[in-house]
Amino acid sequence: QLATEYDAVVLTGGATLGRDLPIPGRELQGVHYAMEFLPQQNKRNAGDDVAAQIVAEGKDVIVIGGGDTGSDCDGTSNRQGCKSLTQFELLPQPPDLGKYPRRHERPTATPWPAWPVMMRTTSSHEEGCRREFGILTKQFLGDAEGRLRGLKTVRIEWYADEVTGQQKFRELAGSEAEWPCQLALLAMGFVGPEKLGLIADLGLELDPRGNVKAGADYMTSKEGVFAAGDMRRGQSLVVWAIHEGRECARSVDLWLMGQTNLPSVSAGEFAVHA
Ligand SMILES: Cc1cc2nc3c(=O)[nH]c(=O)nc-3n(C[C@H](O)[C@H](O)[C@H](O)COP(=O)(O)OP(=O)(O)OC[C@H]3O[C@@H](n4cnc5c(N)ncnc54)[C@H](O)[C@@H]3O)c2cc1C
Repeated sequence: QLATEYDAVVLTGGATLGRDLPIPGRELQGVHYAMEFLPQQNKRNAGDDVAAQIVAEGKDVIVIGGGDTGSDCDGTSNRQGCKSLTQFELLPQPPDLGKYPRRHERPTATPWPAWPVMMRTTSSHEEGCRREFGILTKQFLGDAEGRLRGLKTVRIEWYADEVTGQQKFRELAGSEAEWPCQLALLAMGFVGPEKLGLIADLGLELDPRGNVKAGADYMTSKEGVFAAGDMRRGQSLVVWAIHEGRECARSVDLWLMGQTNLPSVSAGEFAVHA
């Protein structure tokens, strides 16, 4: 309907489909994606009523995933008054280089200006959070009512594959443990936009990372349908979303009108349409 009623359609639906953890017990009440949990609190902060809100208050919370989204879950859980808070990360603990390491202090594998592999402690961590590295969640444990009551884990060690050099991990025998937990939040990264609905209905091609494939002019595989922001480039930053929105608007204008006065920082790329 959108594609037939409108000359141009711009898709900016984001890329908030979280990476899942399909292990036994995933279906238990109390296991949620970070993006089920976080937006509810944002709505609450904005004064909206949120029916059946997922709350951390009084619960042992475990956040699975040690990145920025996990850190946001930490902050929100603490402020909601969780009983305890632990964050699991699969990777080993990176070196603690302080907040602003000098160039010569950076890890040799990630020299300036590469993104350095180093311990990052956010204000959410500083508010109180136990952080565990090199840990793999094996099972969600439930009670008789189907509610989450704990997590089963094992410690892992990382090694380089002798043939390929690829980093792999193996479980450490005897390191199994159980953790009390009534709320587990999955924050292990994002796998692109929601494919059901618009993307499937319009039959859009995806790029190898599962995002909507679009050219330098932001047009998708379907003529007149454009995509911008996270939906096109994957989970990113607000500054990129603003940039893409502006560039995409210019591109749509150019495509509809044959010319445009809208500014562009990468206008050269669009010469083909001029
Ligand atoms: C937990 C988290 C923390 C982040 N923190 C930061 C940060 O500190 N700094 C930073 O720069 N970036 C941060 N980001 C990234 C930033 O939020 C995104 O890069 C940016 O919001 C992308 O903008 P967007 O407009 O492409 O998509 P979004 O902001 O995701 O907006 C997409 C919107 O489309 C709606 N939508 C989806 N499908 C449909 C549909 N079919 N019909 C109608 N509406 C639909 C969604 O509900 C959503 O409101 C964070 C992201 C996450 C997930």
